[in-house]
Amino acid sequence: MIAILLFLATTALASSQDDAAIAAMHATHVKSAGARVVVWAPPAWPAEKRAGVTASLDRAVAQAETALGKKHEAPIEYYISDSDDLPSHVYGGYAHAAGDPPVVFLSGLDSGEAPHLHETVHLVGGEFGSLLLREGIATYVQFVVQPGKMRPLVKLEATDLESLDKAAARILGKPQTREQALGWLARPAKSVTFTSRPERGMFYAVSASFTAHLVKELGMSAFMEAYGSENPVAAIERRSGKPWRQWTDEWLKKIGA
Ligand SMILES: [Zn+2]
Repeated sequence: MIAILLFLATTALASSQDDAAIAAMHATHVKSAGARVVVWAPPAWPAEKRAGVTASLDRAVAQAETALGKKHEAPIEYYISDSDDLPSHVYGGYAHAAGDPPVVFLSGLDSGEAPHLHETVHLVGGEFGSLLLREGIATYVQFVVQPGKMRPLVKLEATDLESLDKAAARILGKPQTREQALGWLARPAKSVTFTSRPERGMFYAVSASFTAHLVKELGMSAFMEAYGSENPVAAIERRSGKPWRQWTDEWLKKIGA
């Protein structure tokens, strides 16, 4: 049952569910506009808190743009939930497509966690060809800009890039999880189904550590070019002249796995 709920909540967030959530919050929530964002906040929030969060979301858009070297023209709309029933995600979840509205759902903002930069990177990043690189770059940027503010799901005792590599090495070091992680790396797919929360956490840690390696070696602009292509593996191989297997082998060696 838990696995099914998790699947519904994180993997198959149908656009129609998101449309319903937006309509519901239009009726209950308080709207404020920042320079780059429109924020729908829970009605119980004092005006001060609303203003503070709106300013930090404006900052997140700028941070995501700077990190990725990419601009997002339209304002981004953030729908903020006080409950964990609606987990943080972009409109459409893992199936977000190029033509979808620039909408982000956020929860967990009162816990000291900061999912807003992660989700904003998804939106500014735009069209993607592989979920591995999509979650990888969003988690990587979050680690670089806001270390220590990860949700428990992806924390895995990692607070900076070095401990992130160690977390990935631990996953690769266990026979029972190594095979799965190597499968994700060998065949980066546009969509991946997770059956449990730890499995999803593993995917994020492995993705982010490997993406950090790609960004360091390729540079962000070449990485983002590949990111947006239909087949990022082929794009990276073309660009670097290095077979994909060599990319993953070199990363494994680097993290000591
Ligand atoms: Zn994500």
